[in-house]
Amino acid sequence: MRTEQRLKYNFVFANAAPQLGLNRTNQVVDLETGARNARLDALTNPIVVVRAALDPATKVSNLRRAGNLQLVDLTLKQGDTLTLGIDATSNLPASVSYVVGNGNVGDLTLTTKWVGWVPENGVQVPLGYNTTSDWRNIVQSKLYVDRNIVDAPIEEIVAPAAGGGRGGAGGGAAGGRGGQAAAPQATKVADHVWYMNGNTFFEFDDHLTMFETNRNDAALQAVLAVANSLVPGKRVTQVIMSHHHFDHSAGVRAAVAQVLTIIARRGNEGILREMTSRPATLFPDALGRNPQPLKFIPVDDHLKLKDGTNEVDIYHVIADNHMADAVLAHVPASSLLVEADLTTQNWDYQWWGGSFMDNIEHRKIKVVTNLAVHAQQPFPIAEVVAAIEKQVRGAQEMCARAAAAQFYQPGCPVQYTRTLPPATP
Ligand SMILES: [Zn+2]
Repeated sequence: MRTEQRLKYNFVFANAAPQLGLNRTNQVVDLETGARNARLDALTNPIVVVRAALDPATKVSNLRRAGNLQLVDLTLKQGDTLTLGIDATSNLPASVSYVVGNGNVGDLTLTTKWVGWVPENGVQVPLGYNTTSDWRNIVQSKLYVDRNIVDAPIEEIVAPAAGGGRGGAGGGAAGGRGGQAAAPQATKVADHVWYMNGNTFFEFDDHLTMFETNRNDAALQAVLAVANSLVPGKRVTQVIMSHHHFDHSAGVRAAVAQVLTIIARRGNEGILREMTSRPATLFPDALGRNPQPLKFIPVDDHLKLKDGTNEVDIYHVIADNHMADAVLAHVPASSLLVEADLTTQNWDYQWWGGSFMDNIEHRKIKVVTNLAVHAQQPFPIAEVVAAIEKQVRGAQEMCARAAAAQFYQPGCPVQYTRTLPPATP
C-alpha cells in the first residue's frame, strides 16, 4: 500500500510547516511485514480489507447482525483483529474498526465508514471515508476522493527527503520533544527549583511538585528517577498540568499510575476523569495494568502552594486564544515563571503573543527568567519577549501572504494588542 500525504493543520500553532502544508508523510506500507498501525490503517481501504477477509490465512468468525449491518470479525495472519461491516441491503462494505493503544486514553477504537459508492473500471469504490474514534466520537479524518483509478498507472510515490519541515507540535505525539535525549539531567535554577528538559520541579518540606504531565510511562519513570534523587528523602508526589491538550496530557495516565496528585484548572477535571478511567487491556499501559483513581486538586483563579521551604503561585492563564482552562506557575522568591504554550522560543509564529506579558501584568508579578515546557533551557524574559515579537511578525507576514492570495488562513489577522518595536533588518 502506497500513500502520499501532505498534512495541513487548521489549528494555529507555533511552527510554519504544518500550517503551510509542507509536511509530507509519503510512505509505503508492506501489508505482510509493515508496522501494525500502518498496516491496519491501510486496511481502511475497502478493497484492501475485503482482500484480507478473503485471504485463506485470515480467520473469519462471529458473524452477527447490528441494525442493517452484517458484522464479522477478522483475525489476520499477523494476529490482529478487526471487525468488518457489510451493508445487508447493498452487500457493499460499510465499515471497519480496530483497536490501537493510545497514550492519552488507553485502548482506542477507530472506525472507518465508507459512503458514496461509484463504479470504476468494473469495481465499486467509495468517494467518502469517515474515520471516528470512540474517544468522544471525535472525527480522526474525513477523506473525499477526487478520483479513483483502478488498474491504471499512477505516479511513483517518493518518500520526502529527511528534514523537510519540522514536525507538528500540538497534535498528540506522546512524550513531548525531549524524548530523544540520553540521560536527563536536572539544572538547579534557584533555591528549591530545578528544570529538566521542559519540566520544572519545586521542592517543598516533605515532597516535590513537578510542572507538566507530558511524559508517558517510560519517560515519566526516567524523569522521576532523576527528580526523586534531587533531595534525599523527598519524592515527587504532585504534578501541575498546564492544560489538557494531548501533548501536555500525554502523561496524565502515567502520572495517575504513579499515584501523583494532579493540580490543574477545575474545568479539566471531567476530561481527566474520562482519560484516566478508560481501560487499556488490549494495549496495557501502566494505568491499564494497575488502575488507580485520579487524585485532583482544582485551581480556580489562583492557588498558592506554600510551606516552610517554598512558595509557588498557580494562576489561571488569561488572554490566550490557544487555551481556556490553563494555568501557569510563578515563584515569587526567584521571579521565575513556569508556563506551557505561551512561548515557543525557536519557532516561527505567535498567534497569542500578547498573552505572556498580559498575564505578567495582570498578576503584577516580577519575572526575570522563564521556564517553558517547549524549551530546553531557562530563558531571560528579554529574550522571550524578543522571540515573541519576531514570531508575531512571522505570523503577520504569513497572514499578509494569505490575504494577498485571497486564501483563508485560520488565525489571521493576528490578534496582538501590544506594541511591536520597529522591525530590525
Ligand atoms: Zn496547547
